[in-house]
Amino acid sequence: MTHSIDTSPLPAPESAGDAPRRYFVTSFGCQMNVYDGERMGEMLAAQGMTQAQSRDEADLVILNTCHIREKAVARVYSDIGRLKREDGSKPMIAVAGCVAQAEGEEIARRARSVDIVVGPQAYHRLPQLIDQARRGETAIDTDMPVAAKFGALPGRARQQRPSAFLTVQEGCDKFCTYCVVPYTRGAEISRPYADLVGEARALVEAGVKEITLLGQNVNAWTGEDDQGRARGLEGLIEALADMTGLERIRYTTSHPNDMTDALIAAHRDIPKLMPYLHLPVQAGSDRILKAMNRSHTAASYLKLIERIRAARPDIAMSGDFIVGFPGETEADFQATLDIVRDTVYAQAFSFKYSPRPGTPAADMEDQIAPEIMDERLQRLQDLLNTQQHAFNLDTVGKRMKVLLERPGRKPGQLVGKSPWLQSVHVTQEGARIGDLIEVEIVSAGPNSLAGEPLALVAA
Ligand code: SAM
Ligand code: SF4
Repeated sequence: MTHSIDTSPLPAPESAGDAPRRYFVTSFGCQMNVYDGERMGEMLAAQGMTQAQSRDEADLVILNTCHIREKAVARVYSDIGRLKREDGSKPMIAVAGCVAQAEGEEIARRARSVDIVVGPQAYHRLPQLIDQARRGETAIDTDMPVAAKFGALPGRARQQRPSAFLTVQEGCDKFCTYCVVPYTRGAEISRPYADLVGEARALVEAGVKEITLLGQNVNAWTGEDDQGRARGLEGLIEALADMTGLERIRYTTSHPNDMTDALIAAHRDIPKLMPYLHLPVQAGSDRILKAMNRSHTAASYLKLIERIRAARPDIAMSGDFIVGFPGETEADFQATLDIVRDTVYAQAFSFKYSPRPGTPAADMEDQIAPEIMDERLQRLQDLLNTQQHAFNLDTVGKRMKVLLERPGRKPGQLVGKSPWLQSVHVTQEGARIGDLIEVEIVSAGPNSLAGEPLALVAA
């Protein structure tokens, strides 16, 4: 990995020694980082700080980083450099998230303007780290105490959006050979059932209508319910479905091997569980899947999709793909295109393989040339985009409920989500963010739909 080292003289902190009053958090990468960023903000607010409108107005800037691909890491270093202000001052800078965990002290060595380095399992200690930074020390905390973080965070604050994330499971024991998550997020842990039901209730009381349960392997969640029974994720979903005021439940990201019969049945039996499933397959060639240590085959994945669709025929499938894994031949890549054609995705995320230091795949022979990866990614994305557009076009003329989430670009326009996670643009006088309205879809583009309102279903 090559990052330039910042050797310029250190500018004086804007308020050396003063307690920061305004914070600004930028989260990169996955939804779990978005959740962590929100919890950091809530914790700083509980300490009396306020959220700044921009980085320029902040005394403390937190870069909540992602280590999954090299590009994401390089971005952190360029972002740190941009925090220096025209007058030569700078805010207090904290690097949080998976880059902090993976690179630790190295960050402070390379970018001397960084005051705090805090890993994803240690951010509940931010107040102490801020105090340490105010004393002029570089504060570094990359400990991984098992689940200590959640117990130390304050209760959930009032939510600005009707849709919220709730991390239920963290870490990963699967060790796919390309992936840094088991090293940066640690071993798989499930948060306790009672804590999660409590946090979900607090979110609903704070105005939330939709909760997305999060985890690197969210469907590996296990816990004991309020009657002491061992349950999988379906047990938690059942408890949430009983909550008055909560209209929609989603979960992401799932691993094919943890997709139990009980969870599949939940898609058939629980109307509040939305008909959308993100189930990454990564590749279509069994040889590559084996080298990735995915422990499923293309055939077992397709069989699983068949069972899921038998339980919930209208379910929209989503996935992740990696092209150019070491040793991938054109025939292997064709197998990836085949599994996409066989599955038919409503949405998908596809990436060029990025060698990550310390992972087994980074040392494998036959690394694929960048231009071959570019060309394969283009062909894969063309196919996935065609499928996504076709899925969207299929909804034209259909009626569906839309949860309004944010203002649109045009005056009076609001943007919401369909049950299948499509963005829907609607204009209806009197409608507000947080309303669940019934619409008829009148047009569809590759990335969004337009709906005509029919009725307000629930306010
Ligand atoms: N746990 C999920 C699973 O098993 O599919 C995925 C979690 S990972 C944070 C999100 C996605 O990043 C993966 O599904 C994979 O497609 C992609 N990814 C992970 N490591 C990568 C790498 N080294 N290069 C390119 N993409 C990668
Ligand atoms: Fe990474 Fe594989 Fe774990 Fe997903 S299952 S987080 S891809 S190691």
